[in-house]
Amino acid sequence: MTMKNKEIWFVTGSQHLYGQKTLNQVAEHSQAIVEAFNASGNIPVTVVCKPTGVGSPEIHQMCKEANLAEDCIGIITWMHTFSPAKMWIHGLQELNKPILHLHTQFNKEIPWDDIDMDFMNLNQSAHGDREFGHIMARMRMSRKVVVGHWQDAKTMAQIASWSRVATAWADSQEMLIIRFGDQMNNVAVTDGDKVEAERVFGYHVDYSPIAELVAFQDKVTNEQVAELVKVYEEEYDLADNCKEGGKDRGQVLNAAKVEIALRAFLEAKGAKAFTTNFDDLEGIDQLPGLACQRLMADGYGFGAEGDWKTAALCRQMWVMSHGMPDYKGCSFLEDYTLNFDGENSAILQAHMLEVSPLISEHKPKLEVHPLGIGGKNDPARLVFTSKTGSGVAATVVDMGSRFRMIINAVDCIESKKLPKLPVASALWIPQPNFEIGAAAWILAGGTHHTSFSYDLSVEDLCDFAEMANVEAVVIDDKTEINSFKKELKWNDLYYHLAKGL
Ligand code: MN
Repeated sequence: MTMKNKEIWFVTGSQHLYGQKTLNQVAEHSQAIVEAFNASGNIPVTVVCKPTGVGSPEIHQMCKEANLAEDCIGIITWMHTFSPAKMWIHGLQELNKPILHLHTQFNKEIPWDDIDMDFMNLNQSAHGDREFGHIMARMRMSRKVVVGHWQDAKTMAQIASWSRVATAWADSQEMLIIRFGDQMNNVAVTDGDKVEAERVFGYHVDYSPIAELVAFQDKVTNEQVAELVKVYEEEYDLADNCKEGGKDRGQVLNAAKVEIALRAFLEAKGAKAFTTNFDDLEGIDQLPGLACQRLMADGYGFGAEGDWKTAALCRQMWVMSHGMPDYKGCSFLEDYTLNFDGENSAILQAHMLEVSPLISEHKPKLEVHPLGIGGKNDPARLVFTSKTGSGVAATVVDMGSRFRMIINAVDCIESKKLPKLPVASALWIPQPNFEIGAAAWILAGGTHHTSFSYDLSVEDLCDFAEMANVEAVVIDDKTEINSFKKELKWNDLYYHLAKGL
């Protein structure tokens, strides 16, 4: 996946009042800003300079073009001069791409000795951006506001983060999720309204009988299996029973067969995410553990036990963080078991099998062990402990009348070996601490499944929720239970009153 072929349109606002000379300067400045953004190497998408917006028809036309342009994943607006905002109403009413309002100024510092009326006719964003902000506030538009000088690294970093989120948003609009089997029977939190999910988040969820995967598996050749097992041998340390001649070697070959079939199936469908269910594996040798782990590492969203909402979020977070500098990884995870240890009380994060090796701190070990669930043969899986460091865990739950995204800042601490529990794991302390973090998550109705990333921030996830126009609740170092409970109640009222949001 590359983000460079995605475009963010840079649209500067002005008007005819100041004359053509000023408008020419406005256009030159906009061009210079866009060139600086693209030359910085910090912004993963291509920023495209559009003609200055100087009247309602032109602005309306530009917004319609943005909607239709497949590569355009969002627009940045900036009011270099005063641009009377009634001119923007028709365009903004129609715009269906994410919008970032950049409050900057071409000139950095006030030239105290030389400042004159010509300067003031040009450098007006201090008031121009407020006029523009008003109309979007009045129209109740979701948007990101970034304040800072355009040459400042911090400003560019914020634009870069937002453009990553917008890329994930665009990706979500064309995401197909395949479910093998249904939800795990009787489970509430992973279920939800798939029709509403498509309306709100854009992605589509399809069911596929496991028999369709079996048909792909039947076509896998021994040569393909041998080739993939070679890759396993290069990328992982194989346990003795998994090496050639080992007693469970056959299970590794079977795991490779499942992976090849699953990959081919998802490619044939054009799917970007999938779910499995350990109750629905007829014709498959083992619960796909290794296959899910490796597919997640390649960007496929995954949710266990039919959890399509988490599968979607895993894909979205993978896209957002793809190619980030000093990348540390993301994964599907589950709140597995608790460790009460005073100030260091923490939650072990793992799953039966399916954790992405992207978050591993060392070369994963490929192992085969029995699994006391699903009634299939012993599955292959990658075993490792995660990197340490801060990250963000998130989930989306269906509250019946709306979706709620719950976002928790967490700190991964050093885990310990689990000699008798051969799973991949992380160990984290939710912010602000174990007690408040876990209590807030439970009060908000959060899943036991999460999508986790070391590289993304709470703000990135909030920006995503903003693009989807869904409720977002944050649990971080400032969370306090009484206010959090009130926030949940107020949100109920807000979303009840604001029908259509
Ligand atoms: Mn689970």
